[in-house]
Amino acid sequence: MATIALEGMHFYARHGFYEEEQVIGNEYVVDVYLETVFTKAAVEDDLYQTINYETVYLICEAAMRRNVKLLETVASRIALDIKHQFRNIKEMKIKVKKLNPPLGGRVDSAFVEVSGEYTKKCARCDRPLLCYGDKTCWCMETKLFQKTLEQLKGTYGDRCLCEDCLKFYAK
Ligand SMILES: [Zn+2]
Ligand SMILES: [Zn+2]
Repeated sequence: MATIALEGMHFYARHGFYEEEQVIGNEYVVDVYLETVFTKAAVEDDLYQTINYETVYLICEAAMRRNVKLLETVASRIALDIKHQFRNIKEMKIKVKKLNPPLGGRVDSAFVEVSGEYTKKCARCDRPLLCYGDKTCWCMETKLFQKTLEQLKGTYGDRCLCEDCLKFYAK
């Protein structure tokens, strides 16, 4: 397991509720912390599995460029895009900080932090697996016959299966 982080990414953006913020803008600082597991693919240096700093930065930059009212929206968007891009994240924390928010007095910063933890246990063999609980979930595996998938859902409900167990049922 390893922590991969980008700390103190500075952006100038126009998020916010107030017109002043949307016109003048604010300075923002974004921190991203990712706990990853070394999968076999990561050891083999597969770029899709290895967290790439540049990709993480570009994801943050793109999310900052789209103006929204809430910092929560920015943070959630970054989290979602990182999940879409990388499949080996065990835990993640995203912090989006607005410097000198216009609150009438001196305030250094206001921030929003979103975090997620994606370790689960396989319903069949009890070994740990990673699942984001969305449509990328391994239990939505399309390599299975529809009938097999229905059977598995009948047996295991919403609980996830690891890749090896899915392979056991695969076509
Ligand atoms: Zn799952
Ligand atoms: Zn399993």
